[in-house]
Amino acid sequence: MIRIAIIGGGISGLTAAFTLEEHRRAGAVEYTLYESSPHVGGVLRTEHIQGCVVEAGPDSFISEKTWAADLCRALGLGDQLIGSNDADRKTYILVHGLLIPMPDGLMFMVPTKILPTGLSPLFSWATKLRMAQELFHPPHAADTDESVASLVERHYGAEMVDRLADPLLSGIYGGEAASLSVRAVLPRFAEMERTHGSFGRAMLAARKKIPRSPNEPSIPLFTSLKNGMQQLSETIAARLNPSSLVTNTHAQSIQPDAGGWTVGVHPEERTTGLNSGHFDAVILAVPTHAAAQLLSISSPQLSAELSAINYTSSITISLGYDRQVRQSLPPGFGFLVPRSEGKRLLAATFLHNKFPHRAPEDRALLRCFFAGSNAENTWQLSDDAIIAVVRNELQQILGLRADPLFARVYKWKSAMAQYGVGHLDRLDRIERLRQQLPNLALAGNGYRGIGVPDCIRSGQEAAKQVLNPKSSTTLSVET
Ligand SMILES: Cc1cc2nc3c(=O)[nH]c(=O)nc-3n(C[C@H](O)[C@H](O)[C@H](O)COP(=O)(O)OP(=O)(O)OC[C@H]3O[C@@H](n4cnc5c(N)ncnc54)[C@H](O)[C@@H]3O)c2cc1C
Repeated sequence: MIRIAIIGGGISGLTAAFTLEEHRRAGAVEYTLYESSPHVGGVLRTEHIQGCVVEAGPDSFISEKTWAADLCRALGLGDQLIGSNDADRKTYILVHGLLIPMPDGLMFMVPTKILPTGLSPLFSWATKLRMAQELFHPPHAADTDESVASLVERHYGAEMVDRLADPLLSGIYGGEAASLSVRAVLPRFAEMERTHGSFGRAMLAARKKIPRSPNEPSIPLFTSLKNGMQQLSETIAARLNPSSLVTNTHAQSIQPDAGGWTVGVHPEERTTGLNSGHFDAVILAVPTHAAAQLLSISSPQLSAELSAINYTSSITISLGYDRQVRQSLPPGFGFLVPRSEGKRLLAATFLHNKFPHRAPEDRALLRCFFAGSNAENTWQLSDDAIIAVVRNELQQILGLRADPLFARVYKWKSAMAQYGVGHLDRLDRIERLRQQLPNLALAGNGYRGIGVPDCIRSGQEAAKQVLNPKSSTTLSVET
């Protein structure tokens, strides 16, 4: 019987536990999951307010990465999956105070249809000229990693970084294109540059290769759950052995001991006292800054590499409005705000349009997002003051003056990992250092994907790794 400790009860740790549960039932494994907060799920948190499904953390996951939907089906939640209303998909970018729709055919930042981009006021003539020239970009294999901003600027100029690349990435990573790594965040773009030179030509060539039958149902861009993302973490938790889940308990230390690990935990309700237990293997499913603390004595080098992965904080603000507001808002999924616009808001999503089952017909549900320095600058404000900042900016951008029917503020301290330039090299060093320790696996959003599907995959791989330590389960990057 192998004894395994899982530290962290977010979606990564829960998935690792769910993967081990089958082996526990077969009598091969015993596991204990320690979670410092009173609830499992980590940043997956949903509230139901006035018939609206209000997400505090993630509101969905990208459908192309199938690990999340596959897990939902394995949990019996297949009939609860909902797809984004892609027929109504329209995203605006704020430019000089006006909301400009992203032109049709723009794939991330690559124009694949000449006319809509050529006619769009989103870009200046200078950038449009750069887009035409980009088609002649020669193939180029970069020797070293670089920032996303530097790659995009080389192809399309600085305006494309400001108006598209940076706002799009801020919405996913809460970070800036100037510091995010191309190899870790946009590996497909590095590959397109190597093989085709031009992103435009590479995208068009890829399209031609995929013959699409007219009867083939198209997959929605985003997937979520009818009752919200917490439905996923609650369902996993309900499938686990109740005595294996230990909440309100903070892991304080892990020490190699007799080929395994001694884990010291501190129950939150007690002011003193450290309990310790011996395990054959440990899965650290916590942000890398928390993993670094736990490993600071047993492996200072690994700890230093883990703590060098930066995390940013974020704030989401959900506002519910009445039917009149719903009718007055522009169609589409919402808008992104380039930093050059000088606002605190980075994005706002019109959730009543993005998904079915999010708000009754007579309600509008808006979710606003601050991250990175915008979140840090706002952090100390009271919830009421943050709501006032958001309402002021929504008034400037949308002309929205109405009082919300409800408003909620959710703060997430150091929760979004930033894959800086050189991230993949750092992961190689982390992997070498990890292998020098007894049976230890790392999971979570700090390594090879920040989204929910990637975290699910990391939890599954971590469980496989501790069950079969000889197998190498180093994950590949897929974005
Ligand atoms: C505001 C926001 C919006 C997002 N939106 C999306 C989205 O729409 N789509 C998407 O795919 N992804 C989104 N993400 C990213 C994604 O949700 C997260 O990357 C993912 O859920 C992280 O899961 P995790 O289990 O790795 O970490 P977490 O959810 O951070 O869980 C880690 C857990 O470990 C616990 N813990 C930490 N230290 C200890 C310790 N020493 N002992 C015991 N327990 C400990 C914490 O309490 C926490 O519960 C979003 C993230 C945020 C913050």
